[in-house]
Amino acid sequence: MVTRQIQYLRKLSLNVTPFLGGLALVVLGAAVPMHCRARAVQVAEVSTGLAFSESEVSAYAAEARNKFLDRMSAWRVKTCPQDCERVRGVWARLQPVLRAQQPGNPPTLQLELINSPDVDALSFADGTIFISTAFLKRSDLDDSQIAFVLAHEASHILMQHERQTLTSAMALMAPTQLQSAADIYAEIAERFFTLDDALTLIAHQTEFEADEVGLEIAALAGFNPHAQLAFMRSLAVKGEAESMVSTHPRATLRLEKLQARLPLVTRLYAAGVNDSSK
Ligand SMILES: [Zn+2]
Repeated sequence: MVTRQIQYLRKLSLNVTPFLGGLALVVLGAAVPMHCRARAVQVAEVSTGLAFSESEVSAYAAEARNKFLDRMSAWRVKTCPQDCERVRGVWARLQPVLRAQQPGNPPTLQLELINSPDVDALSFADGTIFISTAFLKRSDLDDSQIAFVLAHEASHILMQHERQTLTSAMALMAPTQLQSAADIYAEIAERFFTLDDALTLIAHQTEFEADEVGLEIAALAGFNPHAQLAFMRSLAVKGEAESMVSTHPRATLRLEKLQARLPLVTRLYAAGVNDSSK
């Protein structure tokens, strides 16, 4: 989830556990055969007309990431247990499709493993994705579900959701006083409670989009979309009380929207599995 910087600010303010809050999983999906092949099709298309530059937003995100790393200093993974190998294996399988989302650019996405019990998964607009091994253990994620989580986080970065959110937030404020991303962040902090309802709508929209694009990316990489959704099914079964106060929409609504995309994503998955060009 994000920790795109704005959501990160919001979570700090509300003292809500980041993303997907540590819910137990019921694994419903079938295992994905390791011989699946990725199909490197670009499905992530950044919106046009966004305010600020990608580099400006990325620079602020890097600062936020460094502050997060300071907080997580005690939870950096030094020796990797078996879960880390599994996550890195899934990450490697996603790479051909992730690289295809940034045509002409060098790869900017980086995966960092931590083992904090207070963090699940999050991303920063500079390209850094964190996932906690404690989250994997607690939620008992299989490879397809890990792929969905990682692809969801990557989609926030690829779709430039932090920049989208800053652009939308600027539209809610008096534009004459707001010249930079720093101005927007300061204004959000200052007017957090009065802007909360509007920012929540924006945040939810980006979550739906990250769900959808993430599902597509992981499917193209050879992860069965039905198996990926076991993660969201478990969140929906678990209940919705937690997500009511988070930056994320209700899991039942997220699942409903994801299931509506299954006919398309199942075709993308079949294309990835059957691709003979690689
Ligand atoms: Zn998210």
